[in-house]
Amino acid sequence: MPVDVGGGEEDGGGVMEITSVIHPAECDHDWAHLETRKWTGTGGYNIRFFRVDEFFCRRCLRRREIKREEDSRDTPEWFR
Ligand SMILES: [Zn+2]
Repeated sequence: MPVDVGGGEEDGGGVMEITSVIHPAECDHDWAHLETRKWTGTGGYNIRFFRVDEFFCRRCLRRREIKREEDSRDTPEWFR
């Protein structure tokens, strides 16, 4: 059962920010890309694509993950 997390108007698929930033004013975050994890699963007629981009702030070392997932027959643009 796919869950609509909103934000569907972006280039395909929902974007969900997992790590909440509690005090955004305390640091002018300078996000650096750490790694990208991609994997697939099966969901009914479609393939379910997952992608997690991990970042860390160069200044306060806070971590942040952006997760995307989408059910599709074709490989989404953001998964390539
Ligand atoms: Zn920071």
